[in-house]
Amino acid sequence: MSPTSSPDPSGTRGDEEIMAYAFEQGPIRPPSEAKSLLIRVTRNCPWNRCEFCNIYKGKTFERRSVKEVKEDIRKAREIYDEIRGLSWRLGFGGEVNDAVLQVLWGNSSRYGDSHRSIAAWMYFGAERAFLQDANSLILKTEDLVEILRYLKETFPTISRITSYARSSTLRRKSVEELVALRKAGLSRIHVGMETGFDELLRYMKKGVTAEGHVEAGRKVVEAGISLSEYILLGLGGKRWWREHALESAKVINQINPHFIRMRTLTIRRGMPLNEKLMSGDFELQSEEEIVREERLFIEHLEGISSYLISDHILNLLEEVEGRLPQDKAKMLAVIDEYLALPDRERLLYNLGRRGQVYRSVRDLADMGLRRRVEAALDRLIAEHPHDLDRVFNNLRNEFI
Ligand code: SF4
Repeated sequence: MSPTSSPDPSGTRGDEEIMAYAFEQGPIRPPSEAKSLLIRVTRNCPWNRCEFCNIYKGKTFERRSVKEVKEDIRKAREIYDEIRGLSWRLGFGGEVNDAVLQVLWGNSSRYGDSHRSIAAWMYFGAERAFLQDANSLILKTEDLVEILRYLKETFPTISRITSYARSSTLRRKSVEELVALRKAGLSRIHVGMETGFDELLRYMKKGVTAEGHVEAGRKVVEAGISLSEYILLGLGGKRWWREHALESAKVINQINPHFIRMRTLTIRRGMPLNEKLMSGDFELQSEEEIVREERLFIEHLEGISSYLISDHILNLLEEVEGRLPQDKAKMLAVIDEYLALPDRERLLYNLGRRGQVYRSVRDLADMGLRRRVEAALDRLIAEHPHDLDRVFNNLRNEFI
């Protein structure tokens, strides 16, 4: 069967047959890939030692064969055609709109997760794909090229394919290999830099040095692939916040990635870092201290044209966003507005943000919202008069 042919143009396939067309998807993707088709090319993380990460702990890394991945892509195409057929039968001419989604969501015994994922992807235009899991670039370049080509051939609507990759893997690829991947369709790589401070990279067992991050990042940029570098705010704790900010800025300045994406540390059970937190070896910063660290980092970004984004719900100030260098002053002004708040206003904002009531410091002016948050803050202060920082850290850690 050709990858683009429909298995059931008449719409008469039975429920069991339809459910058999499930394909495999991994657990995570970056927030910016919410509208992407997820294609799993490996399972779990080949490194799996970072102290601040519990996503794949206890799970064994596996490479999936090219054959297996291509079979998933073929199934995804069959589901795609099935959904288009459904849309035609409903009178929508192949378009996936709210009415088609409603039918799919309302019939979970017939249409499973794979159908719902593909339908949501089609609803958003079927233009992007993300290769899972934590480090797809670990596959042999020729295998990945074959997968990328097949994916584009099967879904000609795809214009962007992205993946996570570790710096230590990227630095082992030649620029020529990365160019071959770009030509086959790989358009963006997401790298968890976390920090550019060597001592902290060792402490967190990231398995790479600052120099390794620079070498890997530069290769990706040279190959013409869009690069997103993720910085983990709060990772330095009280001991290394300053070095974390300054050395991370230095590394970013040497790479000039297309995107700098901010994340904020949370510590949960199952993370090795939780033991260091419990023993007192690692001390979390307060919300305000993390914002000061962010300010120091941005202040020291020099000579680059990256776009900085705070696109994660755990970041306290999601408005810190803009193109460097021209928007640097604007981003620092957002931070300074927060830092200039009187103590009680800052606590109100922190609580409102963690409770998903506030999205911006300006929301403090909304009296309706304020009444809700003030009542909750008064309760917290009465119950925990001496350890509000710990309470806020718990709110952040338990958020997701
Ligand atoms: S490399 Fe990424 S996925 Fe793997 S352990 Fe580290 S943070 Fe987690």
